[in-house]
Amino acid sequence: MQIPNSITYILDRLEQAGYEAYIVGGCVRDALMGHKPHDFDITTSALPEETMQVFSDMRVIPTGLKHGTVTVLYDSEPIEITTYRIDGEYADGRHPDEVRFTRSLAEDVSRRDFTMNGIAYSPERGLFDINCGAEDIRRGVIRCIGDPDRRFGEDALRILRALRFSAVLGFEIEKDTADSLRRNKELLVNVSGERILTELQKLLCGANAGAVLRSYPEVFAQMIPELAPCIGYEQHNRYHSLTLYEHLVEAVENTPAEAGLRLAMLLHDIGKPLTQTEGEDGQWHFYGHAEKSAELSGNVLDRFHASSALRLRVHEIIKYHGMVPENTDKFIRRRLAKHGLSMFRDIMLAHIADDSAKADFARERIPVWQDIIRRAVEIDSQKPCLSIKQLAVNGKDLSVLIPPSPKTGEVLKFLLDGVLDGRFTNDRDELFVQARRYLDEKTE
Ligand code: ATP
Ligand code: MG
Repeated sequence: MQIPNSITYILDRLEQAGYEAYIVGGCVRDALMGHKPHDFDITTSALPEETMQVFSDMRVIPTGLKHGTVTVLYDSEPIEITTYRIDGEYADGRHPDEVRFTRSLAEDVSRRDFTMNGIAYSPERGLFDINCGAEDIRRGVIRCIGDPDRRFGEDALRILRALRFSAVLGFEIEKDTADSLRRNKELLVNVSGERILTELQKLLCGANAGAVLRSYPEVFAQMIPELAPCIGYEQHNRYHSLTLYEHLVEAVENTPAEAGLRLAMLLHDIGKPLTQTEGEDGQWHFYGHAEKSAELSGNVLDRFHASSALRLRVHEIIKYHGMVPENTDKFIRRRLAKHGLSMFRDIMLAHIADDSAKADFARERIPVWQDIIRRAVEIDSQKPCLSIKQLAVNGKDLSVLIPPSPKTGEVLKFLLDGVLDGRFTNDRDELFVQARRYLDEKTE
């Protein structure tokens, strides 16, 4: 197992002082899977004060003494060392009321969530794996350590972690664990919106996200009640062969693995059941569903305490996912002026994802949407004039034609419209000519 020098050094020092020290959890799991761990957690038999004593010649920060965590700075790299511990009762279904330190590694790994996360390793002592986590990793299985009902009852975040690991690692959730997770889904009310959002974003970006969304719809509806009416909802529309929930999932799968985009696709049609009407031909229509879905997505993201940037991004993608784009420079410039390149690209990616999840004939439009993105990137790279500020003339320049007044703004707006439409070039002389013509016509 490849362990950075800084970590080996810390493990050695603890061992030399007469304590046990291991790396544990996600880093061991990732290493056993052949992935490079993104951080290393150290667990030790030394009590926090003892750890601080061992590293008294280094900078030590008592980051979470109550939970037994001490951070040692090695060449300004922070390394977390946590004392073996047992978690007490979980009265709130989320956090242990108290933690107790122990000298037994077996007790420490048994408080951890899944067998794959309960493996410890020390260069000196080798692998410590009393829950057969390595075997579960080899077989690609997520399994609670101990009784799943009890473990999810202690901390409901584990429900979401199981789904997230399944989505990201492509592992199956073992049957007892999966059944229990479904049975205990209501416990998710104990998990804060922020934590749900963090896990959900990682989950949605997992390569296996679609399969997880399909296997546990009722759990997702527990987190996002707006999804409940979408499950099993037939759309009775010739564009759609899938139920609404299946369409949402397929749209997620057809979007680049980027949290904001995937979240937007998961929610992009949640307003449909509320806007449903039936045409004379028996086809169902959902007029105004994009606006409605955007509005509902705002409620969802407010409950999750999302950043305003994420909230806005998701809202805009959903609001405009149903517009009918034209593959013309004029249309593209107008959209760049309104949304900016990044948001416009997101909106077009949403079109591609949406159409990919519809009946075959809707997919014919996808190459056009791809062309529009390409052309938008090209146009944007030429630094076009997209706002009044970027016009080659300003209000002051125009004062030779008209005294400054609200009319000045009107003229500038007229000039920008012409430039965006490609009727005028953004050239000072030309814009003066156009401004004069506009004013002459107005006064006639
Ligand atoms: P990653 O860091 O890749 O998201 P991880 O498994 O390392 O995955 P962390 O949140 O870093 O997740 O937690 C480190 C370890 O702490 C886990 O591997 C697990 O052993 C334990 N752990 C984390 N959260 C919980 C929890 N809610 N219940 C029980 N054990 C947990
Ligand atoms: Mg980790």
